Amino acid sequence: MQANATNAAIDSQVPPTADGMSKKHLRLSHLPTKQDVTYPRTAALIDPDNPPWPAFRGYHTYSFANATMGHRLPTILGKAIDDVIETLNTLSEEEEIIDLVKCIERMATLKKELHQSAKLRPIKDDGEADVILWNKEIAKYFEGKDFMNAPWLFAEAYKYRRLRECFTVSKFWVNYDVFFRQKCDTFARSSDAVFELSTRFAKPFQHEKHPSNEAKLERERLMFMELTQICLWGNSTDLSLLIDMTEEQIKTLQSTGGEALAETEKNILGNHMPRLWEVVRDLKNKREARIDFILDNAGFELYCDFVYADFLIQGGFVDQVRFHGKRYPWFVSDVTKKDWNWLLNTMVYGHLFTKATEQEKETLRLLGLRWKQYEKEGKWIYEQHPFWCTGYTFWDLHSEAPDLFLHLSKSDLVIFKGDLNHRKLTYDCAAPYSTPFDVAIGSMASASGAPKICSIRTIKSDVVIGLGDDGENIGSKLDKDEKGWKISGKYAVILLSEGRPGETVTFI
Ligand SMILES: [Mg+2]
Repeated sequence: MQANATNAAIDSQVPPTADGMSKKHLRLSHLPTKQDVTYPRTAALIDPDNPPWPAFRGYHTYSFANATMGHRLPTILGKAIDDVIETLNTLSEEEEIIDLVKCIERMATLKKELHQSAKLRPIKDDGEADVILWNKEIAKYFEGKDFMNAPWLFAEAYKYRRLRECFTVSKFWVNYDVFFRQKCDTFARSSDAVFELSTRFAKPFQHEKHPSNEAKLERERLMFMELTQICLWGNSTDLSLLIDMTEEQIKTLQSTGGEALAETEKNILGNHMPRLWEVVRDLKNKREARIDFILDNAGFELYCDFVYADFLIQGGFVDQVRFHGKRYPWFVSDVTKKDWNWLLNTMVYGHLFTKATEQEKETLRLLGLRWKQYEKEGKWIYEQHPFWCTGYTFWDLHSEAPDLFLHLSKSDLVIFKGDLNHRKLTYDCAAPYSTPFDVAIGSMASASGAPKICSIRTIKSDVVIGLGDDGENIGSKLDKDEKGWKISGKYAVILLSEGRPGETVTFI
């Protein structure tokens, strides 16, 4: 719009000035006519500072991006400092104390920079595998940008990388996790839901004697649908949405054609679950089938992911599940290898749940032992590619992490969990609600060899796509009637892209 206004000033008849002289102006009639930016931008115009649709930026007052950059992130940093101080108070060795005090000072500096919306500086060479990726992106796209005018996704990710740097340049505290205590708490506080699941799944899942093949498959389908929802709502803070799965209820579901499921399903605004089931079902006939999980949060959510992955193994759908976590503390609650180990070990050896009965504790222990066995046998594998902790969206995964793209292309299904992964899949921009998922995720769907991709996400931030042909109506109605629907975690999407599996992966 502005571009046209400027154009008019140059090229229109300008009224005479006070002295009666007419101002000279250039005639640009042979140059191409100016055009407004139209969305989506064409591929050649897209880069990390210019997503396909308008970016969310911290300076957009009243936006969630603004609230995050101006309020949430400083609060998170403040809490992180409190955590380090708690550790500091338990120390006795002078050298370690001095080293940790310096970490706190660096965190205080970062907090100040965030507060003053300082310019984004390069990451120090602290030996992490992602330094080059970070500094290349800053130099190419964010030179001179600050915390508020860089796209929200990048600025937010950058903050977590800087927080990492506060510790990686230290001597004793390189692997310190300021969020570890909080992450453990989310599991400890979920005891009801934890035992709800462990008491059902501790014994390996078995079919009734002599059911027909159709009956078996139908039962598996119903279990899959419910477990997918557990995997989904485990990502929400509202754990009360966990649904029951007694034999009786499964039978009821069968007789009512899934009415009960429909009850919790109605908040899934874009729902490809039926197709997801077909994809998983068909893996039964494939040798060496593999599913990948791009994890989101530690603690209770990871536990739900494990239950889901366990079902996929026991049901004979897949032979291997690869879990992709973060190399270091990321967006507060994301899974690191330490969180992964902690969960499995606390299930087997821990004393977290003092109020639980002996039988309940035993179910948790059995489950933990089985899952550790999967790990030993290579059925479950934890991976931590450096790309997952960069500011790049997954539109750039193909070009910036070709090894990772090639690796994922060999998977039969890649499940991305949670809000941040969804933001990164969709370039975190203001795409229309009706945008189809495979359009919104760019090369992750369109590149040759792209795997089947599923996003399982409770909606906790601005970008919402995949709501179908009637998406604009659904979205605008919620905008009008239900303020905050995009950040409440009440709504969700389960979206699937078919990709181009089996085609040769090529790089330019
Ligand atoms: Mg997370």
